[in-house]
Amino acid sequence: MANPKPAIKYTQLFINNEFVDAVSGKKFPTVNPSNGAVIIQVSEGDKADVDRAVAAAKRAFARGSPWRAMDASARGLLINKLADLIERDINYLANLETLDNGKTFESSVVDIQASVSTLRYYAGWCDKIHGNTIPSDGGNFTMTRKEPIGVVGQIIPWNYPIMMLAWKWGPALAAGCTIILKPAEQTPLTALYIGALVKEAGFPAGVINIVPGYGPTAGAAITEHPDIRKVAFTGSTEIGHVILGASAKSNLKHVSLELGGKSPIVVFDDADIPEAANIAHRALFDNHGQSCCAGSRTFVHAKIYDQFVKAAKELAMKRKVGDPFNPQTVQGPQIDQEMFDKVMGLIKSGKDEGAVCETGGDREGTVGFFIKPTVFSNVKDNMKIAREEIFGPVQCILKFETMEEVIERANNTTYGLAAAVITNDINKALQFTQSVDAGSVWVNCYDAITPQTPFGGYKKSGIGRELGEDGLEGYLETKTISIRVPAI
Ligand code: NAP
Ligand code: MG
Repeated sequence: MANPKPAIKYTQLFINNEFVDAVSGKKFPTVNPSNGAVIIQVSEGDKADVDRAVAAAKRAFARGSPWRAMDASARGLLINKLADLIERDINYLANLETLDNGKTFESSVVDIQASVSTLRYYAGWCDKIHGNTIPSDGGNFTMTRKEPIGVVGQIIPWNYPIMMLAWKWGPALAAGCTIILKPAEQTPLTALYIGALVKEAGFPAGVINIVPGYGPTAGAAITEHPDIRKVAFTGSTEIGHVILGASAKSNLKHVSLELGGKSPIVVFDDADIPEAANIAHRALFDNHGQSCCAGSRTFVHAKIYDQFVKAAKELAMKRKVGDPFNPQTVQGPQIDQEMFDKVMGLIKSGKDEGAVCETGGDREGTVGFFIKPTVFSNVKDNMKIAREEIFGPVQCILKFETMEEVIERANNTTYGLAAAVITNDINKALQFTQSVDAGSVWVNCYDAITPQTPFGGYKKSGIGRELGEDGLEGYLETKTISIRVPAI
């Protein structure tokens, strides 16, 4: 049941299984994007707190510690227990997520269900992570062992706060690592509540630590820390560069990056127009357009372009924007004033550069960060709205004529996170899926992301993969052991 006023229980840092104030005593506000009001003050972590969290995570990872000594199957049971507790409290957590983030209550529920599934998927991996025996030249007995990489830092964004936590924790815990998580400054509340569930589940102290705070302080302290062996980051490509740089300047920690996108969704002329328009609509507008893999360039074949634009416009006009706790609402506010201003600025640039604003193009209401679902037609490849990540409810519809042309244009971006094609022609589907530079390619569907399916980017959309078996690799080292076998 939606409840816009969930009681907030935890606002301090979670270190070594205890809630503690920041060393500096500082706090920062977290804001309700539906009305711009401060919800509550949260402890603001900084370098001194990251140092404390790393010390706890190092102790938890030490040889002979309860975590290191635990059977892998028991690690799986603990992760499953955490998933059970998150599921038990799904209603409370969904309300807290909606309050802090502005996504609809129903979307929060769906995100949490996906998060629970992700944790359970990785729980099952714990006692199935193993190396090989290798017929090496020279007759040695050679085997590989997969070992946890150690203390890992995880820096996550505000668009899917609980889900990003689960995507990061699942594989790290399955591998046997220990964790320092920094949630986004905009959305720290649900992670802290889950901290209490970590303790209730029975994880040894220090295995999971949560340090809310700002990127340039708490975030930077993680990326520069000499005792952190890997950083997993989801966020902007701009900060992705900073994270990789910090690794280079400190201890060459491993880095995995899940960054932005400008994902093409290509609709051929044999497609069913209402169905294609619906897929493209959801591909862009889900989560208010605040999705790294949003289908933000809709390429439509010239033969059906006008009909498609009409259908897309109708869908956008029907979209109900407003209070995310209202069950009729499908679109809540953008996350904050900064993102609101960025999206409104890009909408203005679209109008200025000659794209046709079919619907929307303005703020919704006068309070909070709501933006009307916006559809642009007549979008050209060189326009800012066709090149830059908008991260808002703004659909850009471009026209194309041939397969060759659309592949060339789809790939003409520095990003490569996702792509989709809508067609009933198997040849076209195969030609497109094999030619597009993207980490995920969807045919006649979108956002087909599950715990089992690897996800990540080509080019500047990222480094490494999350989810699936591939997601585990980033948290493991391979140790090769060769043993001389004496001749008999
Ligand atoms: P961001 O700055 O990249 O934030 C992502 C995370 O990185 C946050 O936890 C952030 O902390 C942290 N961070 C920022 N600067 C850091 C630094 N110097 N060192 C270490 N960590 C740092 O993203 P944003 O400002 O929230 O959003 C800007 C744009 O990023 C959006 O318009 C969108 O294009 C893109 N974005 C992409 C995704 C995605 O899923 N790939 C998600 C969110 C945003 P703070 O809490 O202080 O910001
Ligand atoms: Mg930021």
